[in-house]
Amino acid sequence: MMIGWFPVPYPDETFDSICYRYAKRMHYSHKNALGEDLFGKRIFSVAVDVPRHLKYLIENLPPGCEITADKIIDGHTFLPYYRPFLKRAVYAQLITQIMSKDVNTFNVLGALSRFRKHVPRYLRYCPECVTVDRQHYGETYWHRQHQLPGVYVCPMHFVWLEDSQVYAKHGSFAQGPITAEEAIAVARNKPRPIDKSQIAKLLLRLSWSSNWLLTQSLDDDAETLFQKYYYVLRAKGYIHGSTTIFYRDKFKADFLSMYPPDFLTTIGFGSIAHNPEYWSKQLTRKGYRDGHLSVLGHILFIQFLCQTLDEFFALPKEWQPFGNGPWPCINPVCDHYLEPVIDDYFVMFSRNNCVEGQFECKCGYVYRLWAPENPYQRGKPPKPMVVTQGSIWEDHLRRLWNDSELSVKDICRTLGVVSYDTLKRHVIRLELNFDRGYPLVYPTPKKRISKDRQLKHPKYSVVEGRQKLTDVMNQQPDITRNDLRREYPTLYEVLWRQDTEWLENKLPVRARGTPRVNWLERDAYLADKIIDIAETIRNEPGKPVRVTKTEIARRTELTALIMNGSPNLPKTKAALEKVLESREDYAIRRTYWAKEYFIEKKVVPRWWVFVQTAGIEKSLFPRVEALSHVMVGEIEDDIR
Ligand SMILES: [Zn+2]
Ligand SMILES: [Zn+2]
Repeated sequence: MMIGWFPVPYPDETFDSICYRYAKRMHYSHKNALGEDLFGKRIFSVAVDVPRHLKYLIENLPPGCEITADKIIDGHTFLPYYRPFLKRAVYAQLITQIMSKDVNTFNVLGALSRFRKHVPRYLRYCPECVTVDRQHYGETYWHRQHQLPGVYVCPMHFVWLEDSQVYAKHGSFAQGPITAEEAIAVARNKPRPIDKSQIAKLLLRLSWSSNWLLTQSLDDDAETLFQKYYYVLRAKGYIHGSTTIFYRDKFKADFLSMYPPDFLTTIGFGSIAHNPEYWSKQLTRKGYRDGHLSVLGHILFIQFLCQTLDEFFALPKEWQPFGNGPWPCINPVCDHYLEPVIDDYFVMFSRNNCVEGQFECKCGYVYRLWAPENPYQRGKPPKPMVVTQGSIWEDHLRRLWNDSELSVKDICRTLGVVSYDTLKRHVIRLELNFDRGYPLVYPTPKKRISKDRQLKHPKYSVVEGRQKLTDVMNQQPDITRNDLRREYPTLYEVLWRQDTEWLENKLPVRARGTPRVNWLERDAYLADKIIDIAETIRNEPGKPVRVTKTEIARRTELTALIMNGSPNLPKTKAALEKVLESREDYAIRRTYWAKEYFIEKKVVPRWWVFVQTAGIEKSLFPRVEALSHVMVGEIEDDIR
């Protein structure tokens, strides 16, 4: 049965509002009649967000009516608001189901259950909008944007929305269809402007964002959503490194400072205030799940990450840190210099959370670029770092270097080398001779270009890297971590970045500072050495030298240990105590020495001359004094 007349929908009117106006005009007071007229069957309700059985309605509209299914879906349902958060396939199924006449189709609307969670309980209206509608159209109607979850403020008039008496949640017709005109006639009509509180501002922003989403008809597939979330979180510094290191505390603190718990409670997200980081975990993991979070939740999250939803949805679906390819070769001697000939690049994440791309031309030239710090912020172009010059470039260098007509400056310019020092390093690497009359100065080892870098570009995968490292360590079991890093920097880098744990387990234990001292060994060595030294000092010809700590220390390489004493050296300490000479002992030794001295000279000294020569005048301990008298007597006996 053709529908004789159908209301012309007002801008942003909800689909149920259109149906109610129809019922009113037809003087239907019961839902059954309405259902049979518009949908060909008895219905229990018309939901505020998504209609059903649209096909029957569209097919039975009066001739000349300009209403189409698309117009209804885009302009009078919540579907444009739901759509960016649904996978394309799910959305397509949803449309099929909405259009279907058959009740028994698979129920995809279940996918919307979470989306519908925050739909308001009662249909809402803005008193200012009501006035405007009545001036323009002679009646008011239910506005779609006022019924969206989390919308408490009219985005146009900055006044609080008012709840009507009409139950919205399940669109039940229990009370029969009620038009806005009827419902609001009896309601309070005085507009209540919002104040300047933070909550009011946040609610207003939420209204704007929700309304923006509703009116965009975005054709996004939620499949790519998690990627965007992931990259923006990275750009904002909440995710670090190639693995997902998520800064929970920072995220939570920032999130709650933007959305105070009061606000979250107001919009029905009170529980999320305890662990907002749970969201971002759900939203950024690979494989987006439809309807895991309500649209309102997504909006909060997007507003947190970007200034506006507009900004977020304008981001490229797949992040291209280096713009769109192909990318140029920057080898000045390549036939394709500065031509876009490189189709693909190899992405690496660096230690400081930057993204690095490695570009390789067929000529063998390989360079890297750092992505700008914020992947979505186009700054000045990053400066390339050359990884490998490649054989064509090297052949050029050989030829130019051997051409005595050319100056080094010319060569540098031709090859795109910034300085003579850099050129020299390449000359040394390629083992060219230095007959050009320039002094041969080797670059410092630190700056020498490593073999591994210059070899055929080593683009190890993790698996290859593991194999390579295992091979190296089998061949050189004694290799240290530092040697490894010096000799195979790229290998080390690849594994360090992508397979840290495996690398750490595989590598030799890291030596920290100076190697561990074997104190036992050192103690025994020092004790022996001290006794030797003491013996040497005692037996030296000439005037005796006293065996003191200072003298011993002076003669060993471990001065400080001996001078300061170390609790780790008990034998050394004992040896020192044994060999050190007291002043008395030293004086006695000098007395003996002086005796030999005078005997050799065949002179019998007077006692005081003997004491002065021995240098013991200040050490005349009783034993020394007695001995000196004895010695003078012995000299006399010996010579006579
Ligand atoms: Zn309004
Ligand atoms: Zn090239």
